[in-house]
Amino acid sequence: MQLLENIKQYAQECPKRIAVRNDSCREAVLTYEALERFSNVLAAYINQNVPKDKSPIIVYGNKNPYMLVIFLACMKAAHPYCPVDTSMPRERMRDIMETIQPHIVFAAESLQDDFFSVIPLEEIVRICNGEQDCGNIIPAIQGDDILYILFTSGSTGKPKGVEITAGCIDRFLQWSESMVKPYQGDDFVFLNQSPFSFDLSVMDVYTSLFTGGTLYIIDDAIQDKFKRVLQAMEQSEAVVWVSTPSLADMCLMSKKFSQALLPKLKMFFFCGEVLPNMTAKRLMDRFPAADIINAYGPTEATVAVTSQIITRELAEDESALPVGKPKPDCSIEIWRTDGTLADRNEAGEIVIKSDTVGRGYFRQPELTKAAFVPYLQGFEQRYAYKTGDQGYLDEDGVLHFSGRSDMQIQLHGYRIELSDIEQNLLRLGIVSSAVVIPKLDAHNKLRRLAAFVVLAPDAAEQNDEQKIRNRIKEALSQRLPEYMVPSKIICLSELPRNQNGKVDRKKLQMLI
Ligand code: AMP
Repeated sequence: MQLLENIKQYAQECPKRIAVRNDSCREAVLTYEALERFSNVLAAYINQNVPKDKSPIIVYGNKNPYMLVIFLACMKAAHPYCPVDTSMPRERMRDIMETIQPHIVFAAESLQDDFFSVIPLEEIVRICNGEQDCGNIIPAIQGDDILYILFTSGSTGKPKGVEITAGCIDRFLQWSESMVKPYQGDDFVFLNQSPFSFDLSVMDVYTSLFTGGTLYIIDDAIQDKFKRVLQAMEQSEAVVWVSTPSLADMCLMSKKFSQALLPKLKMFFFCGEVLPNMTAKRLMDRFPAADIINAYGPTEATVAVTSQIITRELAEDESALPVGKPKPDCSIEIWRTDGTLADRNEAGEIVIKSDTVGRGYFRQPELTKAAFVPYLQGFEQRYAYKTGDQGYLDEDGVLHFSGRSDMQIQLHGYRIELSDIEQNLLRLGIVSSAVVIPKLDAHNKLRRLAAFVVLAPDAAEQNDEQKIRNRIKEALSQRLPEYMVPSKIICLSELPRNQNGKVDRKKLQMLI
């Protein structure tokens, strides 16, 4: 695997280069030499103690650098790893454990579970630093082997495990490397903010290791203490920023969040949810030396498959920001409901045909069959992934995301796209973030719409909130039919985020 080859090469050529660092330690937490040696030793341990059946191994924890050692060890021993974050609710974690039935669990944080054989952190560190003879580990993982399984929320309420292969990762990294190359210098630091159980982290973790950079981890313990996050950012000297737009919105609330705080920052990479025009504009003002990239993709197609550099012109335009052109060896199709291809500028379901579409859902053949459609590329059988997202391709082949199919609702007989209302709210210039939530009654019947908004700085300075709410409603009714104007507007200082850093719609649902 190219990723493992590259890490091995850095370990030989520049052994003392820092591979991983975090806010609690200005020194190396792991050098490339240590990363390579520890993962070899741990791979040897796995080979000796786990049946060679390519069964998944669970890695429990939050942002501990040793989790990266374990991930690489699993690759070398050809066992898929399945990261489970400490923020995962207990019930959900049990579901995952029962679905995976792992032979062993590596736990970087304390985990009371007598169900499976758990290797705690002290033991992991002891094994890595021990004298275990690992011989000459030749990584066993190959192109079609599953490299990781990431659990995402399923519509059944049970999480489903997306299987991504080694080949998908290597091909994704070739693309991500080409994206970050123009910004590479002597110290190439990537900021890691997403948990390792969220596929956005693959962008920073593995692109950093693939290119010989340094991963700077901001862990959850400090993510709750905003002041410390800013301090950590300041000492990171980061060049590449990877996050959801929601996280940038949160940071923008502090005036300190600017190029002066992150003088070396050259690139923002956003993915996972809509990047509002106002967020992009504010970032451009505060970070004149950094490019902003809006990328789109689901976990099932390995992080992202399209990207777009956001220019000032795009950010200042009325329309929502495009998510860009597909990466090489990827084509995006727009399907009508009858499965035929939509015309240019005609909206339909976004379908991804890419060499980075994963294998399907772990032990869920029915779900896999429903979302992954086989097709032939030459003589090779490949799979197209039906995203459940709505969008269209413009005449230049640029993809525009227009919302999730499951965010289409019927209110009093009208079909409404919630993201349409959200986009219009964002265009008013009064709000910087907006989420529209349908209010259901006791019989699950849709009653009305509520909009949660974060006011733009100018509007937030005015004290009369009632006046602002009325202004929003009035301005919105100039743009939308009356049935689409939310009956309730709720101003918040920030929107709640889920463990992946995206807006937490479920939490907002409970607030109305
Ligand atoms: P996940 O699998 O958790 O990464 O979520 C993937 C979903 O996030 C996609 O199917 C889209 O609905 C949404 N998404 C990803 N990137 C973007 C983007 N740039 N703009 C809008 N929505 C996005």
